[in-house]
Amino acid sequence: MRSASEGVQPTLLGVLEVEEWRRCAHQMVDFIADYYRDIARFPVRSQVEPGYLAPLLPNEAPENPETLDDVLADVQTKILPGITHWQSPSFFAYYPSNASTAGYLGEMLSGGLSIVGFSWISSPAATELETIVLDWLGKLLRLPKQFLTCEGGTGVIQGTASEAVCVVLLAARQRSKAAQIAGVAANLRVIPTDSSTSFALSPSALRKALAEDTANGYMPFFLCGTLGTTSSAAVDPLSELGNIAQEHGMWFHVDAAYAGNACICPEFRHYLDGVEWADSYCMNPHKWLLTNFDCSTLWVKHPKSLMDALSTRPEVLRNKATDANAVVDLKDLQIPLGRRFRSLKLWFVMRLYGASGLRNYIRSHVSAAQHFESLVKTSDRFEMVAPRSFSLVCFRLKPREVDTESGNILNATLLEAINSRGECFLTHTILDGAYTLRLAVSSSRTELQHVMDAWAVINQEADRLLSTS
Ligand SMILES: *Cc1c(COP(=O)(O)O)cnc(C)c1O
Repeated sequence: MRSASEGVQPTLLGVLEVEEWRRCAHQMVDFIADYYRDIARFPVRSQVEPGYLAPLLPNEAPENPETLDDVLADVQTKILPGITHWQSPSFFAYYPSNASTAGYLGEMLSGGLSIVGFSWISSPAATELETIVLDWLGKLLRLPKQFLTCEGGTGVIQGTASEAVCVVLLAARQRSKAAQIAGVAANLRVIPTDSSTSFALSPSALRKALAEDTANGYMPFFLCGTLGTTSSAAVDPLSELGNIAQEHGMWFHVDAAYAGNACICPEFRHYLDGVEWADSYCMNPHKWLLTNFDCSTLWVKHPKSLMDALSTRPEVLRNKATDANAVVDLKDLQIPLGRRFRSLKLWFVMRLYGASGLRNYIRSHVSAAQHFESLVKTSDRFEMVAPRSFSLVCFRLKPREVDTESGNILNATLLEAINSRGECFLTHTILDGAYTLRLAVSSSRTELQHVMDAWAVINQEADRLLSTS
C-alpha cells in the first residue's frame, strides 16, 4: 500500500485520457460479453441472504486508486452472486427488462456523449431526435394523429411508467384547477375488479364509483385505464372508459407499460382501440421492445397541459430559442430538470432491427406463451387462473381441497421450490384470493426451449411436492 504522500499520481486512470479510455472500455465490453456467454452458470434468482455484501467489502472507500482488474475481480466474485439475472433466457418473473445489442450500443453512445438535454439549446439533437423517434414509434402503433407532432401532440421519454403517470396526473390536476374547480385534492380511488371480467375494470363499477364520489362532493379529474395490467395483463375496455371519462371531463390516461408494445403487430392493434379517447398514452419499450432500461415512452395530445403544470424558466436557463417559443424544452414535460439522451437507443433499436424484426420478436414470445398455455391446459394437475394475455400465463397447481388457504400454501411452496433451484425464475400474484404463478415470456433471449425447460422444472417440483405432502 502506497499513500498519496509518497508522490503517487492521484489518479491511476486518466480522467478521460483517450487511449486509456479505449483500453478500459474494451476490457469492460469483454467482461460483459463473457457475462452474457456464461449467464446460464448463475442461479437466475440470486440466492444470497440479506446483508451478504457488507462483510465482503472494506468499511471505507479506498484512499488510493485501485486497478480496474481489482474492481472487476470483485464484481465477478462479490457482486454477481447478488445479481438476479434479468437477461437470463430463463427469467420469467414480473415483466422483464429488455436488453439487446442495438439497445446497448445506443445506451453506450448516450453514456459516451454524456449530455444533459433539458432544453433544446442544451443539445438540439437530443430534443429533435426524441421527437422524431417517438413519432416513428407512434406511427408503428397507429396512434391517433393528435398524439403526433403533425397535429400538435408530442412524445417524450420518461424513466418509468410510474413517473409518466405522475407527470400526467399533475397536468390533469392543473387543468382542473385552471377550470376554477374548488378543493382539488388527489384522492386515489381503487375500484375492485373480478374474474368475471378477466380482472379488467368494469365500466359499471366505474360509473357507480363516480356517482358516489360526485354525490359526496368530490370532483373526479383523472382516470387511468390499463392495457395489460401488471398482475394478469388484463385489458380494460378503453372505449367505454374513455367515453365515461369524457362525460365527466376527466383526463384519461392509458397505461400500457408491457402489452402496448405488442400493438406494433396488426393482429394485436385492436387492443388499443379506444386510445383515441385518451389524453395520454404510455408504454415501456424497455419492457418488451428490445430497448435497454430505462425508456418509457409517453405521448400526449396537449403538451401545453404538461407545460402549464411543470414548466420552469429560471434565469440561468434563458436563451433565445426558448424565449422566442421556437422550441419545446423537454424539461417542461417531465419532473426532473436533467435528462439523458435516451432516444438514441430507441433509434438504434428501430433501425438495426426494423419494424419487421420487432414484430417477429413479439410474435415469438406470444407463441411460446401459447405453447406453455396448452401444456397447462392439457395437464391434469395444473389449471389456468386467468386467460392467457399476450405472453403472460397465470396458472397454478389445482388445490386438492376446496379451501383457498391450503391451495395457496401449496402454490407458494411450489414457487419457492422452483426458484431455489436457480434454473428459472417465476413470480406470483393473487387473483380473486388465489395464489397464482405468473410466467411472463418476454426476455430478450428467451426461446421456446427455455419455456419447455421451465415446464420440466415446474413439473419435477410439483411431483416432489405432491409425493411428500
Ligand atoms: C410494469 C408496469 C408499470 C410500472 O412500470 P415502471 O416503468 O417500472 O414504473 C406500470 N404499469 C403497468 C401496467 C406495468 O405493467
